[in-house]
Amino acid sequence: MKSIPFLDLNLQFKSIEKEVMDKTYEVFNNSAFIGGNECKLFEEEFAQYCDTKYSVGVANGTDALWLSLKALGIGQGDEVITAANTFIATVEAISAVGATPVFVDHNPTTYTIDVTKIESKITENTKAIIPVHLYGYPAEMDKIIDLAKKYNLKVVEDAAQAHGAIYKGRRIGSIGDIACFSFYPGKNLGAYGDGGAITTNSYELSEKVRLLSQHGSKNKYKHIVPGYNSRLDGLQAAILRIKLKYIEEWTEMRRRNARYYNKLLSDSNYIIPIEEDDTRHVYHLYVVRVNDRNSFIKFLNEKGIQTGIHYPTPVHLTEAYSYLNIAQGTFPISEKTSSEIVSLPMFPELTNEQIEYIVESINEYQYLTSR
Ligand SMILES: *Cc1c(COP(=O)(O)O)cnc(C)c1O
Repeated sequence: MKSIPFLDLNLQFKSIEKEVMDKTYEVFNNSAFIGGNECKLFEEEFAQYCDTKYSVGVANGTDALWLSLKALGIGQGDEVITAANTFIATVEAISAVGATPVFVDHNPTTYTIDVTKIESKITENTKAIIPVHLYGYPAEMDKIIDLAKKYNLKVVEDAAQAHGAIYKGRRIGSIGDIACFSFYPGKNLGAYGDGGAITTNSYELSEKVRLLSQHGSKNKYKHIVPGYNSRLDGLQAAILRIKLKYIEEWTEMRRRNARYYNKLLSDSNYIIPIEEDDTRHVYHLYVVRVNDRNSFIKFLNEKGIQTGIHYPTPVHLTEAYSYLNIAQGTFPISEKTSSEIVSLPMFPELTNEQIEYIVESINEYQYLTSR
């Protein structure tokens, strides 16, 4: 029987093994573990990649999010609007600064925040909106920016799944006031450990995040504000610089795989991802929707195909956020979608043969269950 993993990081490592191991030796040999040239160069190159003036490396994507909120002065008594169908880290960032998360349902065809439902959630305490470019697909930024201007709100993009995505000709990461990226190993641009960064065109904001992430100091032992410790380390920065050279190629491989899935699945009953004009989906995840998810996943599993669910519980229904007292049924789209979504294997090196086998297995399942 075949065995198709959900994600294969080793294949990518093998393709850059020598470069990575040489660079690792160099970093170790220079003892450039924290800070240093690789960090500085990565920030410059990543800002350039995202078409922004500034980038600041931090320890992970979650820190990028909450440090951004903190740098914007958001805290106790403030409300921050985001989608209910995100990874919990988006919401943890809001509660970490003492603010209150306010949820909005999502657009069922794009999986990003439903921009028609944001305005009714804005109160005098609302300070920011965090659109999440979920699965690698850009949120409707035009409408979000319009609302932000109208109500004087900040826009913090959660771009943890969307390195290289494009919205109406503009790079994700360059549209809101500040954007947050994760370099968790499984992300489209993944480190060999934890890592994260912010991008922004505001010098002031970038310097605030930098200050907060380095114990509130610009110069050693001169502490200006009470800060934190959240740094991208030298080894991860060096590895990310190598990977940044290939990210466009890997993204195109993901997109080719998605197109092949789309083509082969176009006759099935399953709802497949969409991509609108002027938009570049980077397919961090390839998500389909099925009514009978448990048996679907079990069948694929028996065929040796691994799948994922992103995410099984909308954040308002998690135990962690039960204190917000949001009743079941409040966000019907997120609640229904979360019971139907399945992420199929997706990574650049996935082969046509593997995709064909996955779709054949899906068709077999459909045939068996339709009789
Ligand atoms: C991965 C992820 C994060 C958090 O990133 P970490 O680096 O794991 O802290 C935040 N938001 C979304 C949507 C993510 O997928």
